[in-house]
Amino acid sequence: MANQIEAECLVVASEECAELTKVCMKILRFGIDDEKKSDLISEMGDVQCMIDLLGDHLDISSDQILEASTAKREKLKKWSNLIKEKEYGGPEGPEPTRYGDWEKNGICSDF
Ligand SMILES: [Mg+2]
Repeated sequence: MANQIEAECLVVASEECAELTKVCMKILRFGIDDEKKSDLISEMGDVQCMIDLLGDHLDISSDQILEASTAKREKLKKWSNLIKEKEYGGPEGPEPTRYGDWEKNGICSDF
């Protein structure tokens, strides 16, 4: 069970994640302007602060967080268009082999 400091840190981190979510949803619904961008930056900072404090209070090193972040980036490279490595002559859009087979005009042994 978490001690009082750990629990407070977890509660505030959860609250800040919710506040970042709220700003993201407002931008999705109504678009981004200078005020909403400022709100986004503020909440990103709040979440980053709480990530740092979670590390401090729950004995999680910045190397462990970096390792998890790097693993997430690798997943996003495969499953989204958010992180692009420059490819010359390759197909547009998501990685065409992300389902374990070539999805476009290729030979598929599954059917
Ligand atoms: Mg906040």
